Amino acid sequence: MSPSSTHAPDNCIFCKIAAGQIPSRKVYEDEEIFVFHDINPWAPVHFLMIPKVHIASLAQVGPEHTALLGRMMVLAPQLAVAQGCNPYPEGGFRMVSNTGAEGGQEVHHLHIHVMGGPRPWLRG
Ligand code: AMP
Ligand code: ZN
Repeated sequence: MSPSSTHAPDNCIFCKIAAGQIPSRKVYEDEEIFVFHDINPWAPVHFLMIPKVHIASLAQVGPEHTALLGRMMVLAPQLAVAQGCNPYPEGGFRMVSNTGAEGGQEVHHLHIHVMGGPRPWLRG
């Protein structure tokens, strides 16, 4: 892992959202994780899960992040249902983590999109 991968740039919008310095529609928060609604939703339910610590993308995660990422994975289905996704298997949800330019990543603070709700969706 590069030494700068967890160094937060001053202008990281998701660090500011996690710190409450930029307003967001919060879904969930604990010591390590912040979850908020996407400002430009593709689906009836569309929220973003981020670690509070700055990690640029999934390309920078290491073994020290295993527990954090595991907690995010376990939390996702609980929050999805709480936010209105229909139950599996008729319902369900999609998780996406765009990584790097070719992966379509626009905000370089690791985030997991969670999308769900009745079809059709705007995208995806
Ligand atoms: P990505 O292309 O995976 O980097 O996705 C970044 C996502 O962040 C997009 O879906 C944006 O709509 C969303 N986004 C950007 N700024 C904000 C914001 N201030 N509050 C909530 N969501 C945002
Ligand atoms: Zn950040």
